[in-house]
Amino acid sequence: MNKIIDGKKVRDERKEKLMEEIKKLKEKLTLVDISVGDDAASKVYVSQKEKMALEVGYNFLNLHYDKIEEDKLIEKIEELNNDENITGIIVQLPLPSYLNKDRILNTVSVDKDVDGLTRENLTRLVKKEKSLIPCTPKGVMTLLESYHIDLIGKKIVIVGRSELVGLPLFHLLLNKDATVTLCHSKTKDLKSYTKNADILIVAVGKKSLITSDMVKPGSVLIDVGINRVDNKLYGDIESSSIEVASLMTPVPGGVGPMTVISLMENVLEAYKARKNK
Ligand code: NAD
Repeated sequence: MNKIIDGKKVRDERKEKLMEEIKKLKEKLTLVDISVGDDAASKVYVSQKEKMALEVGYNFLNLHYDKIEEDKLIEKIEELNNDENITGIIVQLPLPSYLNKDRILNTVSVDKDVDGLTRENLTRLVKKEKSLIPCTPKGVMTLLESYHIDLIGKKIVIVGRSELVGLPLFHLLLNKDATVTLCHSKTKDLKSYTKNADILIVAVGKKSLITSDMVKPGSVLIDVGINRVDNKLYGDIESSSIEVASLMTPVPGGVGPMTVISLMENVLEAYKARKNK
């Protein structure tokens, strides 16, 4: 039996569907990516987003600054907020430490916040109101749905509580009536939680944090982690855990491709929401 949750396959199906919708639009949508500094991983992510944006039929504007004053950056974002031709705005993280991340993220207009990282979008998510959902959590939810994984009443353990991944996932799964436990760096005896999880989602960034003895037989494993070692990518869950699990995402090829397509879906959603205002 094939136990792999194939993120690339689901991504390709979603991409095709999205492109059909985009073709019907009278106008071309524009996604802007703002990055500051010289983070090497960010450069790779921006180019992946640009490639996908152009493939699905969006314009992509890459605004890169080696260095910029915080107030100037805020002014630029406000200008983009007010520009009718701009559909979605992403502020690439991490930002250099001299910039106030929260202030900058929260300047992005809530209806152009296609990364779903503004305070307002996170609040709407918690309150179960319609919102733009952060891309990686959205991608995980799409994968679970695509593989018809029942969530109601299931014991789900998430490891990692970041605002980018673990925390929004906690609320998304709770909103689907799962029983969700959120573990983090201060959790004692992690194994006592992971071992009982029907669905285990790990978003930490530590290779082999989860070993096969920490996994419940027959469970579903979603590995969000990306760890580069000797130029090879690994997740946070040891790959041999697939022998114990019923289904598992590979790294690469699991959650990663879903993050990018979720962003593209958010751009169309942002456009539709503004049109229907
Ligand atoms: P982060 O550093 O912001 O958060 C890490 C979380 O892990 C924290 O909540 C921390 O409490 C928890 N943690 C740290 N050590 C732990 C331990 N020993 N036991 C339990 N919990 C522990 O990271 P992030 O931005 O949430 O990213 C997490 C991982 O997911 C990284 O590897 C990142 O590269 C990856 N990621 C992948 C995608 C994707 O598209 N596949 C997207 C975003 C992030």
